[in-house]
Amino acid sequence: MRQSSDSVVAPLRFDTVMIANRGEIATRIQRACHALGIKTVMICSEADRQALYRRDAEHFLCVGPAPAAKSYLNQDAILLAARLTGAGAIHPGYGFLSEKAAFAEAIERAGLVFIGPPASAIATMGDKIAAKRAMIAAGVPCVPGPDTALPEDRDVIERTARKIGYPVIIKAAGGGGGRGMRVVADAGQLHEAVALTREEARQAFGSAELYMEKFLQHPRHIEIQVLCDSHGNALWLGHRDCSMQRRHQKVVEEAPAPGISPRIIDPVGLACVEACRQIGYRGVGTFEFLFEDGRFYFIEMNTRLQVEHPVTEMTSGLDIVQEQIKVAQGRRLEIDQAEVRCTGHSIECRINAEDPDSFLPSAGMIDRLELPEGEGVRVDTHIHEGYRVSPYYDSLIAKLIVHAPNRPAAIARMREALAATEIGGISTNLAFLRALFDDEAFSRGETDIHYLEQWLARRRST
Ligand code: ADP
Repeated sequence: MRQSSDSVVAPLRFDTVMIANRGEIATRIQRACHALGIKTVMICSEADRQALYRRDAEHFLCVGPAPAAKSYLNQDAILLAARLTGAGAIHPGYGFLSEKAAFAEAIERAGLVFIGPPASAIATMGDKIAAKRAMIAAGVPCVPGPDTALPEDRDVIERTARKIGYPVIIKAAGGGGGRGMRVVADAGQLHEAVALTREEARQAFGSAELYMEKFLQHPRHIEIQVLCDSHGNALWLGHRDCSMQRRHQKVVEEAPAPGISPRIIDPVGLACVEACRQIGYRGVGTFEFLFEDGRFYFIEMNTRLQVEHPVTEMTSGLDIVQEQIKVAQGRRLEIDQAEVRCTGHSIECRINAEDPDSFLPSAGMIDRLELPEGEGVRVDTHIHEGYRVSPYYDSLIAKLIVHAPNRPAAIARMREALAATEIGGISTNLAFLRALFDDEAFSRGETDIHYLEQWLARRRST
């Protein structure tokens, strides 16, 4: 898919990147920058002054108090810090400001490079109705339902639901984080569900726009990683299965998705690449699909680096973060689609600082830390003995990633890696992950997006 045009586009060079994030992903991005010979400016909130990545940074600046709204989401403070330190580009990581089109725009207006897609692509994909329309135009398969907003007219709403067929799901166009959606089993619940979701959307997302689609009952979550340069070249780097979720939060991810033949996934991957071209995408991104009865249904695109990117790095052999930075510099992709070869099987476990029963975040000091190592084992983390886990942020403290020639071998390797991991002083989900990797249905790959919740409910009742 690489185009061989020789047109000269002025490269967007920079030699210093500000990383507008924290925790494991800040460490990960810093590593990629240094591997490329790029200097880093790291930021922190008052709660993160201890971060070890300060040691390898050119500059380490506090941009505000502990609450994220006053620090990691404080656009003015972050832009000022970038100007003061001479950073030429800003990497937003994931979460925080990574999918805020206005932030990407403000960075470009300040004459800096945003390491991510153009603001227009973020805005299109942030509006789920606009995203669906763009996907349909590019031939990406979508969930049955109109690509227009639901009107107020009760008759039209009823007709739309009947045409799709119950159960349906009402979703907020501006929704995110698994909020702003409601399943409707039959016509009796329809209008109340629409009214409630509309009000929730107005309050949570500042837009009352809704849409309706078919509710799939037993899907798997399968996603496709893309990588695009600013010269019209786009690649897809294989697929991941992220069906193991609790409250719409992914817990275990793997690549490739088990049991998916190239015959059914290849056309979907190519349609994603086509969609990237049509919307003028640049950088890394993920197309998320529900997969049921052999069919793929697009649900959303994440216009940023994802937590689970390492499993694709392990199978494709590509450093996705380095590639992301290189394309932001204006460089061309150095490989084409035929050269993307995914081998073996990779699994990631998210290690969270949380109570094993209530799942509430667990803050405190880590007084003992043993991390696994060895062939095919990778740990992405920012923690160390003596590290204080803050109550202010996401509970993700480490990612355990393994790679092996096939899925059973990867599962065996993950079991060993989990057994070799010890984190003392705080509560974590390690025991829960160890039990999950002993579960037979999971080992056979017979799961869907509800499996983990059902498995937890069964455990609680025994
Ligand atoms: P968000 O942006 O809030 O994460 P998504 O559109 O990605 O919203 O949906 C989040 C989750 O909600 C999905 O992973 C899936 O579990 C569920 N979901 C969304 N749409 C549907 C659907 N049409 N049928 C079944 N489940 C759905």
